[in-house]
Amino acid sequence: MTGLAEETIIPSGVVPRGEGEKKIILLKPRGFCAGVVRAIDVVKIALDLYGAPIYVRKEIVHNKHVVDELRDAGAIFVEELHEVPEGARVIFSAHGVSPAVRAEAKDRRLQVIDATCPLVTKVHIEAIKFAKQDYTIILIGHRDHDEVTGTLGEAPKHTILVSDVEDVNRLDVKDPERMVYLTQTTLSLDETKDIVSRLLERFPKIIGPKTQDICYATENRQLAVKAVAPLCQTLLVVGSQNSSNSRRLVEVCQKAGIPAYLLDDASEVRPEMLDNVQTVAVTAGASAPEHLVEQLIDHLKANGYTDLEEAEIKEEDVRFTLPSDLESFTPRLHTIRTQ
Ligand code: SF4
Repeated sequence: MTGLAEETIIPSGVVPRGEGEKKIILLKPRGFCAGVVRAIDVVKIALDLYGAPIYVRKEIVHNKHVVDELRDAGAIFVEELHEVPEGARVIFSAHGVSPAVRAEAKDRRLQVIDATCPLVTKVHIEAIKFAKQDYTIILIGHRDHDEVTGTLGEAPKHTILVSDVEDVNRLDVKDPERMVYLTQTTLSLDETKDIVSRLLERFPKIIGPKTQDICYATENRQLAVKAVAPLCQTLLVVGSQNSSNSRRLVEVCQKAGIPAYLLDDASEVRPEMLDNVQTVAVTAGASAPEHLVEQLIDHLKANGYTDLEEAEIKEEDVRFTLPSDLESFTPRLHTIRTQ
């Protein structure tokens, strides 16, 4: 006799806990993706090479702590290029920019360093290619997100933005025989699947990108949440409110019926989030630094969650090279990171 009722089903990988024992499940992969690491490195190298001030158009990545840290190091964040002095050095964020922004930078003789994530650039290239072939591009994404604004700008006359199934129901397209859908890189896998299904129902000839536009980091973090949701009573996601991929992690968990909260850092944990919670899962969006996860773990430990288990759902080992104009400075990175 084990002491457990015979019909008790223990989810794989989970050891039964004693009464009152509180546990943290730390998800992996979590936190920084290759595009975010690269974008932050670009700002750090630029500051190291050229000295402050270095201008950055928009938040380099959508994380308050990362932006504050780089601001303290001498980066100046602006919303639009007219705020940058003529001829100055400016970095484009990981979310990418439209051709109109590139043209404005050229007009104002700005020295541009482009930190656009290569996986966002992939979507831009697809948009350009299909627009040239006179396709109607259905871009699935969130209106006003920096990435979507940039992608839309590649072929505005050919592109229609849809954000949900209702938008698809309202679509009126001049040539349903010549349509393609592309997506923002940081969407919910499930919601996108629903939108694509409806597109296929209404427009059976629509084609998609060769490989999915939702990026590996978004996908892996969502898969990890899905796998662990049945094993916990709540999920805490470290990430900023304007981080699309972080918000999706919260939604994926809530959709599985488990409460989830998005926090910039441990100071935002409220006692009611942990009411009657014996097992809390922790993850972080692709732009959230690991030291904030560590602080959250310390906070939870101090509140009785003394048992910590890491659940690795998928191995992740993706790296991107620096933009070509900075590639020769790769060795400097080691020095910068260890300073
Ligand atoms: S979340 Fe994906 S698309 Fe965005 S920066 Fe990271 S790897 Fe690139």
